[in-house]
Amino acid sequence: TPGVKPLVAGNWKMNGDRNALHEITAIANGIDGALDEKIDAIICPPATLLYLAAGSVLDTPLSIGAQDCHQSASGAHTGDIAATMIKETGATHVIVGHSERRTDHHEDDALVRVKAIAAHEQGLVSIICIGETKDEREAGETLTILGAQLAGSLPENCTEFNTVVAYEPVWAIGTGLTPSIDDVAEAHAFIRSRLEDRFGEAGSKMRLLYGGSVKPGNASELMAVVNVDGALVGGASLKSADFLAICEAY
Ligand code: PEP
Repeated sequence: TPGVKPLVAGNWKMNGDRNALHEITAIANGIDGALDEKIDAIICPPATLLYLAAGSVLDTPLSIGAQDCHQSASGAHTGDIAATMIKETGATHVIVGHSERRTDHHEDDALVRVKAIAAHEQGLVSIICIGETKDEREAGETLTILGAQLAGSLPENCTEFNTVVAYEPVWAIGTGLTPSIDDVAEAHAFIRSRLEDRFGEAGSKMRLLYGGSVKPGNASELMAVVNVDGALVGGASLKSADFLAICEAY
């Protein structure tokens, strides 16, 4: 999107221990310089690594994000982590509504929405994920589903500064499958028009990432699609060489 700096975000999911921190350092060093002019980059390690990861990227262009947050500021929510706590680690972003959270933890659009509000209240950038399942795509329901997820998951206070939308077809995550370039273009054009209808100017500048089996080998063609403002990368973000190769696709 003209005037929008692309964002390459890595989601480590439930992978990585302190021995993996050198990958984060290598990514930070790798984007420092020419790449930093072209793209923004963030890595979302498991919550256990947030403090160490955020500490290790100080004074580098790499940012750190969490993979989820709770909607409340504190309280009786065993095992959950508040946006305030994420903020305190030095992280600046948080993924909400990832399809694995929607499936494993039965998160729905209404919950994703209040999580995004909690993130925004703490000054964190929310990366709000949406995407259709294989059955929904085969039934021709993709755009209907995306429209409903956008309406339900994005709070009213979204701006181009506090929100990134990630389109991740559920069937493309971790499978090595990707939609055709035409299908990516269609989904992103649809999402963009809904964002513009609802958020006006901010909707035209909000970053819209594609996610689902992005690899060094397919990144350039996916990132060249109109309205694709970057990538959300799972498996290929675990190794700095792969992640940097995807960043180089710009
Ligand atoms: C993801 O989990 O956001 C993702 C896109 O995973 P992968 O790149 O491994 O498909």
